[in-house]
Amino acid sequence: MEKIRIEIDYTKCGESGKVDPRDCCKCLRACDPAVFIMHETLGVEQDPIDPQLWRITPVWNSLCTKCMKCVEVCPEKAIRVWW
Ligand code: SF4
Ligand code: SF4
Repeated sequence: MEKIRIEIDYTKCGESGKVDPRDCCKCLRACDPAVFIMHETLGVEQDPIDPQLWRITPVWNSLCTKCMKCVEVCPEKAIRVWW
């Protein structure tokens, strides 16, 4: 089966970016098979209890239909999908 790769640029959206994904969520709403989750970056960043640190992560890549809606709706061009 073809492996679908989905990458989020966290320098654009997430803990290092100017967008807090909680204020946007467009990729989450656009993706019919619900490939993404939004979650706190617990344990990844310097301050694990800072509630401001959230990110989007693609977790169920195998469900991706390659529709590219997430790429199209992302105002920061932070999402890459390829295969
Ligand atoms: S390409 Fe489509 S199905 Fe795949 S993650 Fe993006 S919105 Fe979801
Ligand atoms: S659409 Fe882009 S900017 Fe908005 S939450 Fe998703 S990755 Fe972040």
